[in-house]
Amino acid sequence: MSPHINSKLPNTGTTIFTIMSVLAAEHKAVNLGQGFPDYPMSAALTALVDEAMRNGHNQYTHSYGLATLREALSRKIDGLYCRTINPDSDITITPGGTYAIYTALTAVINPGDEVIVFEPAYDSYIPNITINGGIPVLIPLRHPDYTIDWNLVRQKISPRTKMIMLNTPHNPTGSVLSTDDITQLRSIVHDTGIFILSDEVYEHLIFDGKQHESMLRYPDLFERSFVCFSFGKVYNCTGWKLGYCVAPATMMTEFRKVHQFNCFSCNHPVQHALAGFISRREEYLQLGSILQQKRDHLQACMQQTRFTPLPSYGSYFQLYSYAAISEESENDFAIRLTKEYGVTGIPVSSFYANGRDNQVIRFCFSKNKQTLEEAANRLVNL
Ligand code: PMP
Ligand code: GLN
Repeated sequence: MSPHINSKLPNTGTTIFTIMSVLAAEHKAVNLGQGFPDYPMSAALTALVDEAMRNGHNQYTHSYGLATLREALSRKIDGLYCRTINPDSDITITPGGTYAIYTALTAVINPGDEVIVFEPAYDSYIPNITINGGIPVLIPLRHPDYTIDWNLVRQKISPRTKMIMLNTPHNPTGSVLSTDDITQLRSIVHDTGIFILSDEVYEHLIFDGKQHESMLRYPDLFERSFVCFSFGKVYNCTGWKLGYCVAPATMMTEFRKVHQFNCFSCNHPVQHALAGFISRREEYLQLGSILQQKRDHLQACMQQTRFTPLPSYGSYFQLYSYAAISEESENDFAIRLTKEYGVTGIPVSSFYANGRDNQVIRFCFSKNKQTLEEAANRLVNL
């Protein structure tokens, strides 16, 4: 008899990002699929990593993360969100934002717990809940502006609701939470034992003068929140896979129990470099305007095509409707676009557990001008 795995994720296949990036490479397509910049990161920051390695910061560091990095993050959070965070007890450095999300869910979710997830949702959320025995309670965002129907949230709350997952700025839609959303959220969770997991990896990538509504701004929300971040999105180095989670001390204690036996500690020289770099505020404060220009450039180039943009107020992404072009499913359309027109996007249906199709495709605009122009030029004939 050969060994048999009784799959914990029987309905999960290969992520759309792997599928589309492989397909893009195979067809030499302009890859506006997976979200990563195609322009270089800061040479000053890579020089600091080089220096850290040469200076011997090459062994394990603290399991919670390098102390000077946690201290620098605490100062950054105070400056941005006026929240005092204890670097010893409230911050843990993780190998990426995705890992921080997984770890928070693993620390909190017991079998049978319900977790409210808004769809479309970043594709790791639902498998992360399921593998922990949790039950995803799916609430669709309102198409086409992808806002939250808070009345529906009220209806879906049950005695088993353990957590609400939020993502602002939002992947894949580029929608952002407003102060009204925060008011609604506060009134819903007030006097409940509901946790919040807030995925804020795009905190600085926010446009048109909007304010990032971090859970860190609001003491009554932060007291129940795991807030997850990614350095990859801040310093144009998604391949570094380094992030962090911020949470109140008692919650962080449980988070660290999971973390210490999963990865223990993260890349040391990179943490050393970042600890010295974070004080350069302009590096992150300028990001919103740089990305907004890229969004606008893609939009200007796409005007010559029959695609229709949906609003994007943040993130790396903008959704485009192709309803005027084709009736194909999003998946078929995205594959054909790569194979026949040499441009790769991500079908938004892959961010829904049950594959809802609105004839929209996600394009990533964190790219060089020439890349965006080349993509639009290839789409003109469609
Ligand atoms: N959440 C969202 C919504 C993202 O788009 C990403 C980007 N991959 C992450 C989390 C995680 O980022 P990381 O690469 O640091 O794991
Ligand atoms: N966050 C990126 C995206 O949404 C990449 C995610 C990934 O490769 N897992 O495209």
